Amino acid sequence: MPNQVQSLPAFGAGRHLLSVQQFDRDLLQKLFDLADLVRPIAERRSVCTVLDGAVLGSLFFEPSTRTRLSFESAFLRLGGEVTTTTGFTFSSMAKGESIADTSRVVSGYSDVLVVRHPDEGSVAEFAAASIVPVINAGDGAGEHPSQALLDFYTLSSELAKRGRQVDGATVAIVGDLKYGRTVHSLMKLLSLAENLTFRLFSPASLELPAKVAEFARSHGHKVIGCASVFDALTGSDCVYATRVQRERMTEEALNSANISGNLLNRAILERAGATETIIMHPLPRDSRMDSFDLAADVDDLPGLSIFRQTDNGVLIRMAIFLIALGCSPDTVRATTEQRPWDATLRWP
Ligand code: ASP
Repeated sequence: MPNQVQSLPAFGAGRHLLSVQQFDRDLLQKLFDLADLVRPIAERRSVCTVLDGAVLGSLFFEPSTRTRLSFESAFLRLGGEVTTTTGFTFSSMAKGESIADTSRVVSGYSDVLVVRHPDEGSVAEFAAASIVPVINAGDGAGEHPSQALLDFYTLSSELAKRGRQVDGATVAIVGDLKYGRTVHSLMKLLSLAENLTFRLFSPASLELPAKVAEFARSHGHKVIGCASVFDALTGSDCVYATRVQRERMTEEALNSANISGNLLNRAILERAGATETIIMHPLPRDSRMDSFDLAADVDDLPGLSIFRQTDNGVLIRMAIFLIALGCSPDTVRATTEQRPWDATLRWP
């Protein structure tokens, strides 16, 4: 087996993946090519052992379903092993241990760390003390780079099905734009494309931070504030809806935000003549009454891409690990075989 390990650093200027701003278009393309390469492995048509012997340290100090399980699944599908801790209660942080000490200790047990933490900037603190690469799986209202990467990849493939590219697209982004870290990362990452129009709608008090809008504008994109979701849908190729991040708001702020009903539903799409549009959401979707989120009555529309996003999350996170650990496409090919067990798969 060829033992081709590429030299570090792996993500732009650093070996850690903390922000989408570490990406340029070449690195993005390299990651997407790796994601395409590992698709048969993610879809269980073949089995890969490229990360045989490697251990992932998965540290989630905030709730997560998709991000944690898809990172862990991605590592396992590449033949590695996973150790995991969730919440503060079961970690020594409950005994007052600092981020720096925790990070140094756990990085001694692992080959790569994936970290989610409620404080903006905290994952960078983990990285500073770690002896192995650290991947940011969400730092408070800061960034969520792996989500933005899978969102860009999904948007690109959904547009490609329509014979279109991301360049020149109009993307409506609606919901909680203030605390929604996926929006912050996605707008910065999409800024690598050319000539985009962002049409934004958020309730008053949940507006996009000015620095994110400024970032997009400084890269030549149009950022247009809209008075309603209906208005944001005008001419949009895609609508990206987000959940109100209640956990980051005080009771008072939540009450004064005056939110109820659905953010986006079938009736609004029909009224806007947008039933064919690409519908994306980072999930989870808040399905409780009056949650002001994406309604389930859009689920049979052809553009609904939310579960293609979650499936793509595994490929993208596999590609992130391959880059973080310096595995070349040839090494992946040399360690991949036909799936030896018979399974009834749901993949089309
Ligand atoms: N899962 C995403 C995140 O962790 C979006 C959300 O929670 O609403 O940021």
